[in-house]
Amino acid sequence: MGISTVLLDLDDTICKHPQTTQDLLQDAFDAASVDPFFDATAFESLIPEIDADSTPDLRERCFKRLAEDANRDPRDALAVANAFEDPEPTAVEFLPGAEASLEQLASNYRLGLVTNGDRMYQRAKLDTLGIHEYFDVTTYAEPGRSVKPDPNPFYRTLDTLSATPDEAVHIGNSLRSDVVGAQAAGVTAVWLARKKKTVETITPEYSIESMRDLRAPPWV
Ligand SMILES: [Mg+2]
Repeated sequence: MGISTVLLDLDDTICKHPQTTQDLLQDAFDAASVDPFFDATAFESLIPEIDADSTPDLRERCFKRLAEDANRDPRDALAVANAFEDPEPTAVEFLPGAEASLEQLASNYRLGLVTNGDRMYQRAKLDTLGIHEYFDVTTYAEPGRSVKPDPNPFYRTLDTLSATPDEAVHIGNSLRSDVVGAQAAGVTAVWLARKKKTVETITPEYSIESMRDLRAPPWV
């Protein structure tokens, strides 16, 4: 099998925010004057189970579910969702090795971005990092369209590139959205296992510990 196409996730794969989700969540609870009833870990593990049209919609649905589970008023969930502020897209930073690896991959493969984030917000990050030009196609969360781990965003990305799943790999940090989603689309999954928290039922074809490891791509 010859790999011609490399798909990549954006958040916590290529870049990160100095502010963590837990920080932002704490700020949102404070701003809404609501006693915290869940943490970032609970929120993040719920994300793959929830269908949503956009990031704000996803947060609202997740927070409402978490409120239900905690026997809390759904209005508290709504207040926290409304108070939740996205971190500044211009504050993003590359993960170690990501910039050099992207540059190298772009000279050897066609690149596609597959992110569950909103177009405007993610585009601002790409511009901040100066990497938009590396991608032949960028696939964002769009209203009414499913997001990873649904295979659809992978199919759309590959269609645009006229590539078949068996000539593509996808690199991402989330077992539940990146690895499961890529495999559902028939794409080889490369898991960026920075935290090494495995899930027994999910087995990526390849694991890397750092974006630096892509200097020698594991699929070659
Ligand atoms: Mg990610």
